[in-house]
Amino acid sequence: MSHDTVLHSYQGKKLAQQIARFGYTLVSKYQLQKEETSLQLSPPRNQEGLKKHYSFKSPSSKLEARLNTSMLIGGYSFSKNAPFGMLRVGNKRVLTLPSLRRSKYFVRNFLGMAEILKAAVYYYPSCPGCGAHMQVHEVCNEDGRMMSVHWLCNNTSYHRDRNPISIDLIKPFAAKLSKNALRYWNRMMSKRTSYHKKIAGMKEKPRNIRHVRKEWDIARPYNVTR
Ligand SMILES: [Zn+2]
Repeated sequence: MSHDTVLHSYQGKKLAQQIARFGYTLVSKYQLQKEETSLQLSPPRNQEGLKKHYSFKSPSSKLEARLNTSMLIGGYSFSKNAPFGMLRVGNKRVLTLPSLRRSKYFVRNFLGMAEILKAAVYYYPSCPGCGAHMQVHEVCNEDGRMMSVHWLCNNTSYHRDRNPISIDLIKPFAAKLSKNALRYWNRMMSKRTSYHKKIAGMKEKPRNIRHVRKEWDIARPYNVTR
């Protein structure tokens, strides 16, 4: 049974206005087409066209917060594809959050997600062990499902105990988040199964799986993994 409901274009317009208030800007059609061309993406079945993406960047950060609203460009009507958010470095995704259900809480959840991704760009931490910029580390299960996400520094030779250092993603900015953003995050994370490998204390360097949502066939995957 699907809990998805049809979203109307007036809700799309309202969502777009609120995202813009957070400081996100609309990604141009030209930019979206350029990104697709550089990856040589071939559209899977039932693609209805390009979706409205919103982007947030900060001059001090390599990260980009990207929101795929699933709205078709040129208007505010929603496509059948699922809306989701991600963090990217250049053209590479370093975090893909689970797609959002179009329930009656959709707009609220989407805004919570937008707030967290923006905060990750803005408040990314330096490693407490060596001062380097920490990387986003997404831990996935065999199905490519995100199970947990941390900031990670693998400069083990510069760390006192020679272990990787990890910090929960929202920890550096949790105190600055709205109640809505925290509710979105806590509910979303509690749906992940209790797969909690503690990275701290692990002798082995953790795997970093950067998966691409299986919507597209990618002819040049090396462009994704760099
Ligand atoms: Zn470090």
